[in-house]
Amino acid sequence: MASGRDPGMNAGADADAAWMRRALELARHAEEHDGEVPVGAVLVLDGAIVGEGWNRNITLDDPTAHAEVQALRDAGRRLGNYRFPGSTLYVTLEPCVMCAGAIIHARVARVVYGATDPKTGAAGSVFDTLVSDRHNHRTAVVGGVLAEEAAGLLTRFFRSRR
Ligand SMILES: [Zn+2]
Repeated sequence: MASGRDPGMNAGADADAAWMRRALELARHAEEHDGEVPVGAVLVLDGAIVGEGWNRNITLDDPTAHAEVQALRDAGRRLGNYRFPGSTLYVTLEPCVMCAGAIIHARVARVVYGATDPKTGAAGSVFDTLVSDRHNHRTAVVGGVLAEEAAGLLTRFFRSRR
């Protein structure tokens, strides 16, 4: 291991990448099994996955069925609660305004996302909903984790549908 670097920091970045890989698997599942835009999300609490989701708008005829909302709903069912303090949400694409709102309502402590979304991103790209200091709950946000892989899935998806 390289000296002079904080092993704790490296371990944190490695863990973030590992959970993001699971979110990328769910994104691929969205496309391959459901023909949906490939976005995936996992909610992690105390080192374990407590919720998983992927885009299911078309499958469920539901405009709110984004990967993040699906992961939060899954966690709610599994944990028997609607708030998840201390949790981290991993999502392959920067959350939109709707999902940012749901994340704040759910008291998620931290969001780690992959690709930025220049069209609807609400963690600073287009809107600042997720990073605004005007909420009574503050969520820490880290972007750009395995971003190229996440963006590549989306680029290939939309190219194949043209
Ligand atoms: Zn969304």
